[in-house]
Amino acid sequence: MSLVIVGSVALDSVKTPFGEVENALGGSANYAAMASKNFCETKIVGVVGADYPAEHIELLKHNGINIDGLEVVEGKTFRWRGVYNDFNRVETLDTQLNVFEDFNPILPEDYRDCNYLLLGNIHPSLQLSVLEQMPNVKVSACDTMNFWIERNRDELLEVIKRVTILLINEEEIKMLTGERNIFKAADIAAEMGPELIVVKRGEYGALAVHKDYHFFTPVYPVRDVIDPTGAGDSFAGGFMGYIAGKQSFEEDIVKKAMVHATVMASFNVEAFSLERLKDANMANIAYRKEEVRHSVWFK
Ligand code: AMP
Repeated sequence: MSLVIVGSVALDSVKTPFGEVENALGGSANYAAMASKNFCETKIVGVVGADYPAEHIELLKHNGINIDGLEVVEGKTFRWRGVYNDFNRVETLDTQLNVFEDFNPILPEDYRDCNYLLLGNIHPSLQLSVLEQMPNVKVSACDTMNFWIERNRDELLEVIKRVTILLINEEEIKMLTGERNIFKAADIAAEMGPELIVVKRGEYGALAVHKDYHFFTPVYPVRDVIDPTGAGDSFAGGFMGYIAGKQSFEEDIVKKAMVHATVMASFNVEAFSLERLKDANMANIAYRKEEVRHSVWFK
């Protein structure tokens, strides 16, 4: 079963205490797709400018990701610049939407009847447009960030109202709901529409809150975090990819999806850009999944 992913396709300039990169491959859709492709057929929607290196598109193709929904147009690719002084918090120095400013995607025919959709972090009106072109969606998830909560709150609330799952980090759910207690914040977010709220908590793992259950996953213990950029996106891609691959949104699958999502994020933070995420495969994913499971399982 396939998953459609819309999000940013970007050139990132990032500085962490371990180094820096300029105009490296990034963007929420790239990170999410490279995580989800391990679990299901993955189709990407996005736009890049003429300056986007062909090898970045090749990487997606080479990994079996469907790029029929990725447009190449005149102009400059989305650019983002950020600095990490503390690994749980990034300071955005610059966001240039560029070709995303006027992007109005028309989904390819074989994307439209897909049942699973990840609205990766991007302008909420773009998320809405993709959602509206997929009438047969069974499970949809929306990811977002402070940039859109601050600038486009009403449109974002419209998206949140219509999706099955909200994926959001801890600081952002507090910003969205005005509530500091994580469980109360999740309850308020659930009243906005989604059935499941997934709160990403950086190095402290993640929490899923549903009316019938809640579930915590810890992280896989990475000792050398090099660059957290894209951790949330690779988590989102791993999470929705697992659900689409299993074609189920049952409690047991959601819990396993949380652990697989955390494993995908663990690969991502071990190098800049997508350098380490590229190496993930069924064997090393399964190994890390077992490690995470054993870290919480006791008798
Ligand atoms: P994360 O660290 O998981 O929040 O994701 C960072 C990635 O999101 C980077 O690769 C950026 O290119 C991308 N990004 C940063 N700001 C935005 C934004 N406002 N909208 C969409 N994507 C963004």
